[in-house]
Formats: sequence, C-alpha cells, structure tokens
Amino acid sequence: MAPVALATSPKLSPQQRRFSQSKAAHEVLAQSMIAHALQSHIENIDPDQCEAGGEDAFFVADLGEIYRQHMRWKVNLPRIEPFYGIHSRDVPLTLPVAVKCNQDPAVLRLLAKLGTGFDCASKTEIKQILDLGVEPHRIIYANPCKTASYVRYAADNNIRMMTFDNPEELYKVKKFFPDASLVLRISTDDSKALCRLSLKYGAPLDSTADLLRLANELELNVIGVSFHVGSGSTDPSAFVTAVKDARKVFDEAAEVGYDLRMLDVGGGYGTDNLEQIAAMLGPAVDRYFPPSIRVIAEPGRYYVETAFTIATHVIARRTVQEDMMAGQPSYMLYLNDGVYGNFSNIIFDHQHPVPRVLKHGPNYYYNSLAKDSQLTRYSVWGPTCDGIDCISSSCFLPEVLEVGDWLYFNNMGAYSKCSATKFNGFNDDHRVMYVVSEAGAQALLES
Ligand SMILES: *Cc1c(COP(=O)(O)O)cnc(C)c1O
Repeated sequence: MAPVALATSPKLSPQQRRFSQSKAAHEVLAQSMIAHALQSHIENIDPDQCEAGGEDAFFVADLGEIYRQHMRWKVNLPRIEPFYGIHSRDVPLTLPVAVKCNQDPAVLRLLAKLGTGFDCASKTEIKQILDLGVEPHRIIYANPCKTASYVRYAADNNIRMMTFDNPEELYKVKKFFPDASLVLRISTDDSKALCRLSLKYGAPLDSTADLLRLANELELNVIGVSFHVGSGSTDPSAFVTAVKDARKVFDEAAEVGYDLRMLDVGGGYGTDNLEQIAAMLGPAVDRYFPPSIRVIAEPGRYYVETAFTIATHVIARRTVQEDMMAGQPSYMLYLNDGVYGNFSNIIFDHQHPVPRVLKHGPNYYYNSLAKDSQLTRYSVWGPTCDGIDCISSSCFLPEVLEVGDWLYFNNMGAYSKCSATKFNGFNDDHRVMYVVSEAGAQALLES
C-alpha cells in the first residue's frame, strides 16, 4: 500500500525527528515550570497590603526554551553554525544573535555560553556583550550607518567586523578604523515582512559595483556580503532571492580584486517558520556558495520570542453601559502594563498579544481554562493616561473578570521590554523570574 501520509508530510531527517520528539517532551515540563513560577510569585503578593508597585507586571522567562531554539537551529541549518576559527585565520565567525530584540542579562549570558556571536548596533550593546567576557571577534557591528565616535569605540575594542551600504560610511571607516573587516549590506525584497528594513538600509544592487570600487581605492578590507529580508518575514523565497543577489555581488567583488569569504544571511527567522525557511535557504546557500565560504546569520526574534511569558494585574474595570443595556455585558479592563511598557511590541513590532486568564478569584488557569465556559467581551487597556494605550480593542475571555485578577500573555520575548518607555511614571523595573526547563542549559549556566 502506498504510504500516502508519509508522502504528504514534510520529510524529516532522523536528527529533525529526534529533535522534535525531545522538544515536545520538554515543552510539557516547561509548561509546568512556568505555571509554578507564575503562581508562586502571585501567591506572595497581597494586593491589600503590598507596597506600591508590589503587584507590578512580571515576566517568567524559560531559559530552556532559548536552549531548545539553539538546538533547533543547529538541526535545521547545520551549515550556518557557530564557528570557532578552525577553518580560517582572519575572522573567526559565530552565529551572531541580534542583541536589540531582548537584552535580558541571563539570556545573553546563556547565549554567550552556547557559543553564539552577537550582532550589535550601538556602543551600549557592544559594551554589554564585552562585559560578559565575549571575545571581540564574536561581535559584528551590523549597523550600516554608524556614529563616528562609536566606530572609534569599536576600533579601540578591536570589534573589526562591521557593515556598510553607502560611500559616506566608507570614508568614515577609512578615517576612524581603516583596518576594519567590512561587510557590504545589500537591500532585499522585504515587502512580505512584518517590519521592513530595506526602506532604510541596504545598498541597491545597481550601486554595489561602485561601492566596491570605492572601497578598493580607499584600500579598505571588504570580507563579505550581508542582507536582512525584514523582521517577521513571511516569505521564505525572499531568502533565496537575496542569496542569489549576494552571489552577484561576490562576482562583482572578484572583478574589483576582492576575494570575499563570508556571507551573512541576516535575521528575519520566525519561531513558527524556521523549518520552511531552512528548507529553502539551506539548499540555496549550498548551490551558490562553495563550502569554503563561511555563512553566518543574525537571528533575533527567533531565539527569544517564545521564551517569555508576561503576567499582568487587572487594576480597574469599567462596564460598557450600552452593551449591558443591549443584554450583552462587556467590560473595559485596565492592566498595569501597556503599549508604553512591555507591550511596546504592539506599536513597534506590529504584534497582537493575546490575553489569557491566569487567576480569577482564588483559582489559577494557566493553560487550562475549560473550553466551554461562557465567553464575555472585553477591551484591554494599559495604565497610562493616553488613549493609544490599548492592548486589545476586542477580545473574548471566559469568566467575568474582576479587579485583582491576573491575565497572562505568551510569546512576549521579542521587541517588548527592550523598547518599553517610562511614560507617565510606569514601568520602572522589569521583573523577570527565570526557569530552566533543559538540563543542558542549567549545566551551562552553572559552568
Ligand atoms: C533587527 C536586526 C536583526 C534581527 O532581526 P530578527 O527579525 O529579529 O531576526 C538582525 N540583523 C540586523 C542588522 C537587524 O537590524
């Protein structure tokens, strides 16, 4: 009999299959650890007695999830791997994770121990990574438009790898860091990404030959090409197009006299589409670039998004009178965190975080609400006095929630607390409780 089901399901390698089984098992453990951390923090808060802010929103971060994402990357994109300088003497390479989407110190420490590199965009990000004891060659300064004094800072600290995409940047680097190892960032088709980046960065393909000639005249050291298909990319074929474009630029560089050694395939990987991207990106890289070319990536959101859960307190409630009169009760809920705080991902990252009931009255419901409870309609708001501070204009939740209840939101690890403000005096500190649902991660953290 023909194995119909097998023919239509994606072909998993034995490594992929083993990984996904172990991942599923660990996720069950992770859920119970997260539930326990949420509940034990809340049980220690007495809203009637605590000091001001004692009931502030807080995160639970599962560092085991970061570890699982790292292993998942290695299974799916084995060529785009941490590199410890065995194959080449000039620039040892790593898998540089983008720092900007989550600067949590424990996350960065775990990544450093996992051996990833770091993509930094500013002096402060570079310093944060150097302070962890990470060697300068594991950092790429991947901002094509850099502040001159930051370039000097990079030179002083021997951060050699940096990107450029315009002639002015080449003159700047010539002046402040003529020995830098330069990576030419090209623009991409990012029309299907959540956050478009090529509107702002990346050399158009009709300008790359001139840029390479200028770099050569200035006697600068160009070592490779980079791109970013846009953050929250939904189109794996954009990676293939960008790889082909990078190949053209490698060939142009050869004509100018450069022997490029490195391809940087940027960020844009999702937690839900890594396998799809890998299935197209991996073969494209192999087809257009011989094994001697080192390939790195700068994943950001992929590593951290699913590792963070946030819990928020219901501080106020208002009944919507018209709905009540129409016989369909609905409420406005006010939480102690909002778009000026950790829900900044709504504004900057075009996210739609989904509220779930964590605690109602004395009962906890993490991951376990009965599906047939009756649903009530809510709009969910942040604590600041601005009308834009709305987390959800309409959602349905079981139970009639009250002041003092708690909600939680999954997948809050990327572009959330890093872009939070202190507007209106809220959000002074971001409490994070850590759990570690992987023994491998625990061992690294203790080493
Ligand atoms: C933001 C950014 C990243 C990370 O992007 P993700 O979409 O979060 O993976 C990587 N590289 C550069 C240059 C960036 O600006």
